[in-house]
Amino acid sequence: MLPPLSKIRPKPFFVIFKKNLRFDPMLFKDVIGQSRIKQLLIRNVGQHRVGHAQLFLGNEDAGALPLAVAFARFIQCRHRGPEDACGQCASCIKIDKLAHPDLHFFFPSAPNQEHKKDVSSKLFLHNWRELLLENPYFTYARWLQQLGIENKQAIINAEDCNDIIRALGIKSYESPYRVVVIYMPEKLYHAAAPKLLKVLEEPPENTLFLMVSENKERILNTILSRTQIQKLSLPDEDDVYHALTERYGTEPARAKQIAFLSGGRVSEALMLCHQDEEQLADFVSFREWMRYCYQNDVSMILKWVEQVMRDGREKQKSFFQYGLKIFRLCLLQNYQLVQLIRLEGEEQEFIQRFSKVVNHRNTLQIVEAFNEAILHLERNANPRILFTDLSLQMHKMMQAGSR
Ligand SMILES: [Zn+2]
Repeated sequence: MLPPLSKIRPKPFFVIFKKNLRFDPMLFKDVIGQSRIKQLLIRNVGQHRVGHAQLFLGNEDAGALPLAVAFARFIQCRHRGPEDACGQCASCIKIDKLAHPDLHFFFPSAPNQEHKKDVSSKLFLHNWRELLLENPYFTYARWLQQLGIENKQAIINAEDCNDIIRALGIKSYESPYRVVVIYMPEKLYHAAAPKLLKVLEEPPENTLFLMVSENKERILNTILSRTQIQKLSLPDEDDVYHALTERYGTEPARAKQIAFLSGGRVSEALMLCHQDEEQLADFVSFREWMRYCYQNDVSMILKWVEQVMRDGREKQKSFFQYGLKIFRLCLLQNYQLVQLIRLEGEEQEFIQRFSKVVNHRNTLQIVEAFNEAILHLERNANPRILFTDLSLQMHKMMQAGSR
């Protein structure tokens, strides 16, 4: 039995984007690629031909969700330009925080630690906003992780449908349109569908439904037949390259390399972008250390410890955190949740090999030992003794894992 992931989550390992890598504000120009669909949407608005229910079809790398939000912003902007929302009007400022009273979000959810029953989207809006503002190119698995329900089935339930109807019953507050974004309509609980169908069929005036889906096959036909489908394709390497250099200031040579490595997968490109030199140094040092531990090479361990002694206490602590991240990745590898591991080249190879000795037999124990080491460091323990001692423990624990 593998231990539950939540037990081994000292820190979220998913990328916390640096300030300059953050996506807000979500404008059309922040959505990577998709120029054909953007133009089409803009033209439809200009010609007052906006379909009242639209489905943005594509996975997280295509950016279906950020595109839907950018479109909602464009529709509601008070001073929109010919190609994008202004980003500055009262409406845009509210959308920056995803707190516009005429923009409603509904998404799959399930009971979690915080809310144990009678759940619906409205209880998890803060989780939703936090994730969407951090990185709208998130995977569905990442959403479940955000809710702390990795192993559960999440649904859009009857209460959500009631809330949609309630939201439409209220007069729009400040914009001509009320926009309802439904993330993953394929997760709509079938018994609740008739309620939603009714409003899709006869929507109140000036209401716009934007659905974001990864899998058309799983959506009820009765819903599909009432929507206009916009099929998104993956951005190509050029799109990613331009986004990285123009929007995020990545050096052209590195941007080119990342665009190639990611093959247009935006979520991966951003992860690669984030791996700065410090992390690379941590990786090299960690791999070396683990090799010596595994071989129980005491003289090399002692040399390595001397090297680490040159770093300050804070750096040593963050190195332990890096180690914890690696153990978590090993566990994901063992769970075969490889889609959550976005690593490049050597680091990925390392995880593949290392996960053979760091697995369900010993991960909890290892994580405990590392957390304890962090605690001792904070209490001013002698790092030389700490690292040496931990190295010997690591050897034993890896032995237990490779049995
Ligand atoms: Zn605006």
